[in-house]
Amino acid sequence: MFKKKPTIQYPSVRKQHAPRFHGLHELRRYEDGKERCIGCELCSSACPANAITVIGAENAPDDRRSPGERYAARYEIDELRCIFCGMCEEACPTDAIVLTPRFEMSDFRRGSFIYGKGRLLVPPQAGVGAPPDDRPGGIPADLGSVAEMKSTTDPQTGYDATYNGSLLK
Ligand code: SF4
Ligand code: SF4
Repeated sequence: MFKKKPTIQYPSVRKQHAPRFHGLHELRRYEDGKERCIGCELCSSACPANAITVIGAENAPDDRRSPGERYAARYEIDELRCIFCGMCEEACPTDAIVLTPRFEMSDFRRGSFIYGKGRLLVPPQAGVGAPPDDRPGGIPADLGSVAEMKSTTDPQTGYDATYNGSLLK
């Protein structure tokens, strides 16, 4: 308490987080580009904040999204409800949902904090989804597009989200 407090010139200089810091989620893929998520809803069941909605669907033989029988047709996380406990990451049998060290998600509109699959899923070119504990320094090189796709909600038309399987507007 008698030491001078360091001042970091954020955002040009960023603090290095603890290796197990829990920040914004992302959904990862396998090396062949298929989605790791199999729509099993275990993450949703494990979430103590009821922040995750998963609606699974059967894979079509000519359009396989994941290696399993099912994939997540709809996947949403309400980041305002989330307490960043990491239970979803622990519950996931395929290492699909992971918490990244990214924390910059401020916005002016509540709807912007409903992160749908389009914002959570890493793009195909990011491809190789390393399990969370393999990330050197906690920051993966192939981090998805979540931060680039902020503020996509139109304030005039609002947003749609799901809660307990029902569509909300
Ligand atoms: S980190 Fe915890 S609160 Fe947030 S979505 Fe995952 S299980 Fe729910
Ligand atoms: S993220 Fe994991 S736990 Fe959640 S539905 Fe997909 S496969 Fe299941």
